[in-house]
Amino acid sequence: MLVQVPNALLENIKDTAGFDEAAFVQTHADEQQITSVRLNPARQFAPHFSTALQPVPWSRYGHYLAERPSFTFDPFFHAGCYYVQEASSMFLEQALLQTTDISQPLRVVDLCAAPGGKSTHLQSLLSPDSLLLSNEVIRARAAVLRDNIVKWGASNVVVSNSDPKEIGKLSGFFDVMVTDAPCSGSGLFRRDPEAVQEWSMANVALCAQRQQRILADALPALKEGGVLIYSTCSYSPEEDEAIQQWLTGEMGLEGLRLQVHPAWGITEVQTGEAWGYRFWPHRLAGEGFFISCLRKRSRTDTVNSRIKNKPEVASKKEEAVVNAWINTTDFDLIKHQQLVYAWPQQLRADMQLLLQELHVLYAGIRVGELMRDKLVPDHALALSGRVQPAVLRVELDYETAIQYLQRKDIQVNGAQRGWTLLHYSGQALGWANVLPNRINNYYPKELRILKDK
Ligand code: SAM
Repeated sequence: MLVQVPNALLENIKDTAGFDEAAFVQTHADEQQITSVRLNPARQFAPHFSTALQPVPWSRYGHYLAERPSFTFDPFFHAGCYYVQEASSMFLEQALLQTTDISQPLRVVDLCAAPGGKSTHLQSLLSPDSLLLSNEVIRARAAVLRDNIVKWGASNVVVSNSDPKEIGKLSGFFDVMVTDAPCSGSGLFRRDPEAVQEWSMANVALCAQRQQRILADALPALKEGGVLIYSTCSYSPEEDEAIQQWLTGEMGLEGLRLQVHPAWGITEVQTGEAWGYRFWPHRLAGEGFFISCLRKRSRTDTVNSRIKNKPEVASKKEEAVVNAWINTTDFDLIKHQQLVYAWPQQLRADMQLLLQELHVLYAGIRVGELMRDKLVPDHALALSGRVQPAVLRVELDYETAIQYLQRKDIQVNGAQRGWTLLHYSGQALGWANVLPNRINNYYPKELRILKDK
């Protein structure tokens, strides 16, 4: 769809580095759609797209697709084999790798995380003994974030629905803080032409104020020497360079410079002692994006909250029940009423602290619900990649996989009775309970495919 760029925006960005009005207007007039996906390294998945793949140069897991397939009707999409993500945003990978030693166990917070593009990416890059707090302040969006984290199959993520101010109270807790801030959204006009109607300079000013507030509220949680990665999908300097300047000037952070290959087409901008990176759609295959990395230099006391309530752990008997479903060797089994969660042992204290201080929606792997001496397995367990080999499994053909994902009744010849992990081409989709005369479909109702093919 032809996108008419507002004149006020052209005026607003005319002096920014890398801007070329004619080329910029032309890329918005073109009908070209760029589609890219990021593969999940935790899945043994050789991409099966019907179209050619080209690597995104700044991300080891990112690929461009020559055409946009129907992701809805691709079982691999629902199995968490990949995330559909705009290519420029994948530069987060360079920002993290070039500023942080990821071989260490880290505490990382993604402050504005829904729907989960950056969080799933961070999870793929961090070591398994690192903790990722993935936070979203808007409740409905936080639920989508949780679903995407579950689909990704991670065990080291805590999903919270808290205001950045609450996170700020965890003084000096995090090594890395990612703030992909809510913004005026001009960088995504080509994908969402309707957003043009909502764009205004008044909204740019409002967003810039909100970005400062979010950062000022949350920054106390970054430890001394920790790295802040700030990004927006806005072209406006008020939300990009001006924030970067405010961070180095008033907030006392130190700018960090990244290595950028000239062939990538990314524009480096220096403001004072800080560096930002602009992604222009007329210079590279991606949408509008800005990112900047800064180090905190000010002294920060480290949080010293004592854990007030110890979590309830599963009894030996309950552990034996759960062990039939998931190898619990490196996990603690935490109970919340009858629900059982598996928390990586080395993250238990951190997860408990976050549970105490924030509005946590999800942590670790939800294994299932204990009912007397049995466990009803949870969808998150199915997608965790950690189901015990002895659990029943059935491979579905494509049509049956889609029916399963639509939560329809399915038929499978020769399936044994009992809880069964359904697969498509080796990838787990979810649970079914095979009864003598029928199969109960346990695909979560809220995730089902609503359309008919
Ligand atoms: N990082 C996400 C990803 O890669 O999928 C996209 C994040 S989006 C650019 C910004 C997010 O900030 C939205 O989910 C929005 O709901 C959230 N947000 C809005 N107002 C906020 C506020 N006052 N504080 C923190 N986050 C806010």
